[in-house]
Amino acid sequence: MRINRALRIGVGAIALTLAAATATACGGGDDKSALDHAKDGKLTVGIKFDQPGLGLRTKDGSYSGFDVDVARYVAEKLGVQQDKVTFKEAPSPQRETLIENGQVDFIVATYSITDKRKEKVDFAGPYFITGQSLLVKSGNTDITGVESLNGNKKLCSVKNSTPAQNVKEKYAKDVQLQEYDTYSLCVEALKAGDVDAVTTDDVILRGFAAQAPDALKVVGQPFTTEKYGIGVKKGDQQTRDQINDAIESMIQSGAWKSALEKNFAATGYQIPAPPQVERY
Ligand code: GLU
Repeated sequence: MRINRALRIGVGAIALTLAAATATACGGGDDKSALDHAKDGKLTVGIKFDQPGLGLRTKDGSYSGFDVDVARYVAEKLGVQQDKVTFKEAPSPQRETLIENGQVDFIVATYSITDKRKEKVDFAGPYFITGQSLLVKSGNTDITGVESLNGNKKLCSVKNSTPAQNVKEKYAKDVQLQEYDTYSLCVEALKAGDVDAVTTDDVILRGFAAQAPDALKVVGQPFTTEKYGIGVKKGDQQTRDQINDAIESMIQSGAWKSALEKNFAATGYQIPAPPQVERY
């Protein structure tokens, strides 16, 4: 068990190091700030590619989801046309590295604001608030919410995510945590019966459940508070200020609400009240 874990951590570390090395080799990062890139008329934005309703790349190469709409709105406010925004996949374990290396100008990818992450990156926002929940097969009757997590159930979440961290801190004795690279891989494992539940933010799980309403269901009440921020380079106050202005304008104009309604219409998801941007 222990050797296995050490191996996995080792492999993970190598993968991350390789990703970082490739970044530098590709010259993805120049010295320009996000606002400089915006002045040049183009931006690179990190999003998820596999989360329905939030950040999804479809087979024809188009993008959809609330995070995509937020990214486009912000880009437009920074003076960049929608077709000049390049989307780059920002899986949970790689988000800080992508920002630090300058491979993206900012990240809109179900990215919770945390003090630990603030050591490496800064956040505009929040632009959305949700909480950790559980997704199970529709026939499952023994997992009904966080209080029923016991009996060594197999739980899937994603490396370097706040839900995985929370499980390790609070429920390690009760469950076996399996950490994958993406939530879509967790959902496949759930459908295949390899894990008993997937845990991450409620809004993410709702998007997956809506794609397979006969097979999957979200259970219980959200049991953490996740404030989604837009990740920017640490210390780039100007970019952060302008993105905060854009988020406020998206909320005030009604574009925020209609983007949520559009992306979650099919899910029956109750649109929450908009958050207050927290400037720090
Ligand atoms: N919001 C959580 C996080 O930032 C979970 C979702 C995700 O991994 O993107 O870690």
